[in-house]
Amino acid sequence: MAAPGPYQVAVGPSAVPSAPPSYEETVGFHTHFPTPPPPGPTTGLMAGAPGKAMSSPTYYTQPAPQPSASPVAVQTVYVQQPVSFYDRPVQMCCPSCGKMTVTQMTYHSGTLTWLSCGSLCLLGCVAGCCFIPFCIDALQDVDHHCPNCKALLGTYKRL
Ligand SMILES: [Zn+2]
Repeated sequence: MAAPGPYQVAVGPSAVPSAPPSYEETVGFHTHFPTPPPPGPTTGLMAGAPGKAMSSPTYYTQPAPQPSASPVAVQTVYVQQPVSFYDRPVQMCCPSCGKMTVTQMTYHSGTLTWLSCGSLCLLGCVAGCCFIPFCIDALQDVDHHCPNCKALLGTYKRL
């Protein structure tokens, strides 16, 4: 006697109230949604049938959020890049005048120059040959200057 009572009551109310309102709301939303979007794609409405307009607005909104994620990662790359100087001109942004320049190189005697000079002396080249390293750019240190403001941007040391 008690079993059939609660069993029927539980199934009855739960199924009846949920079904009618959800169906009406879904139908009402569906018919209202496709009508306002048209202002966006004007040509799409003219070419396609009025029935197709319902599917086209959903197509346009879906791909939009995907590409927006990529440009965010590119922004952070502009932090100070470590510029490494060698014995050739370097293209860089001058920190003192803020211009994009190619560095001007000046050679001056460095550790390697003096070591070569000393070793030449030990080998017996004392009659002026030991000064040859001071004329060879490949044995000298390189200073990189900005051609605009003449500021020293960096030095390349051989040793
Ligand atoms: Zn400069």
